[in-house]
Amino acid sequence: MTQKDIQNRIAAQRTFFSQNTTREYRFRMDQLSCLAKAIRAYEKPLANALHADMKKPAFEAFTSEIAVPLLDISFTKKHLKRWMKPTRYKKTALSPFAKAQTIPEPRGNVLIIAPWNYPVHLALLPLVSSIAAGNCSLIKPSEITPETSQVLTQMIAEYFDPGFITCVEGAVQETQWLLEEQYDYIFFTGSTHVGKIVMRAAAKHLTPLTLELGGKCPVIVGADANINQAAKDIIWGTCANAGQTCVAPDHVLVHQSQKDAFIAACKTHIHTLYGKDPQKSPDYARIVSDSHFDRLVGLLEGQDIVCGGTHNKKERYIAPTLVSPKGKNPKIMQEEIFGPLLPIISFSQTKEVVAHIQSHPSPLAIYLYAKKSITKDMIIPHTKSGAVSVNSVLSYTAHPGLPFGGVGDSGFGAYHGKHGFDAFTYTRTIYTQNRPQRSAFRFPPYSAKTLGLVKKLFRI
Ligand code: NAD
Repeated sequence: MTQKDIQNRIAAQRTFFSQNTTREYRFRMDQLSCLAKAIRAYEKPLANALHADMKKPAFEAFTSEIAVPLLDISFTKKHLKRWMKPTRYKKTALSPFAKAQTIPEPRGNVLIIAPWNYPVHLALLPLVSSIAAGNCSLIKPSEITPETSQVLTQMIAEYFDPGFITCVEGAVQETQWLLEEQYDYIFFTGSTHVGKIVMRAAAKHLTPLTLELGGKCPVIVGADANINQAAKDIIWGTCANAGQTCVAPDHVLVHQSQKDAFIAACKTHIHTLYGKDPQKSPDYARIVSDSHFDRLVGLLEGQDIVCGGTHNKKERYIAPTLVSPKGKNPKIMQEEIFGPLLPIISFSQTKEVVAHIQSHPSPLAIYLYAKKSITKDMIIPHTKSGAVSVNSVLSYTAHPGLPFGGVGDSGFGAYHGKHGFDAFTYTRTIYTQNRPQRSAFRFPPYSAKTLGLVKKLFRI
């Protein structure tokens, strides 16, 4: 696609939005139904493409890529009428006869940039919110999962007017061309590094944006945790999608009294979930690209491998691997891992955990496995993160009522359900003065008498 083609698509979307069709409740509902129909019709081709790109297991393809946008569509359709209603505000002493309200207005023309790790989910979930909010959307899927991007583009082209929704496939060059243009909103999901590039481009046009970025999500396993349950959850969270999940457990801080038991339980659950040889498991995905494979193998260099560590470049397979970090601040403890490697370190006092989290950029999630309230008393008030999840990993992201987003380096803004509708709309104030004569005192010439009156009003 040339730069000119991109500019033409954007122009077509501007024309479509200016016709005002997308504002109508009925139109939004119909388009949400149309998206659900498209996803159902393309369920198999999308699952096949996800398998071709990263050997995504069929179960994970359905639960994490197909079902999530479908659930969000049905949640959104159930509540959309209410979300679109104006909010009325009480009268005040200074405006006793004015009708004060706000209405959620569509932003207009929106750019959605998606990453590769959940290439369907992370392109379509923002789209659900964008349709619900009454916008026209241009989606840029990731080039790192080419098969999925191609099927997604075909699906959108078959079901939607390109003026309303369109996909532009491409890599860095095409994304840069896209970012040269002006939008009313940008929704970016990806790395912190590229998030900064997107924000710089948005700043040129003062375009508001949401940044859904990455980070290192720590898991704390307390002395009183249910070790077996914690290990099973954490191994699942680390190995689902081969660890290529923005909210995957990145590393574990386990109380020293439980370290050996926790490692033993993790080893057991690698086998119970993925068999003696995970390479043969149909439930275990592959690393998305050679460069990510090389990066992950590089992170293991010089580290103590507690379990796993085997890999096969031809297949882009890396075994579920437990690591005991070695050396002063090794790379595996600095950068987001984004693969099936799990460093485990021990602590003796909760204040060490707090110091560890405070010394890193704020993550999307902090996971806590503990029975007592060390969690609430010590960790929550002294740290920052997009979410805190207690005795569970990943699952909080599937609750359609909860906002999903980061803080600091893991991004800003949130979406899912109503929070997505809010992100893709702006709040417009509508103030209607019904009895203008009552406010006549505000006009000059001012007098000491009216000033006294106003002062009295302010005291009220
Ligand atoms: P990425 O930042 O490399 O790419 C994201 C998108 O930006 C892609 O569409 C890509 O084509 C585009 N892009 C890449 N380089 C660019 C450049 N120089 N200029 C303009 N556009 C560019 O991210 P990724 O590798 O696709 O995804 C992995 C990252 O995304 C991880 O850090 C992960 O934590 C994060 N992530 C966050 C969430 C979340 O919801 N917070 C979800 C999934 C992934």
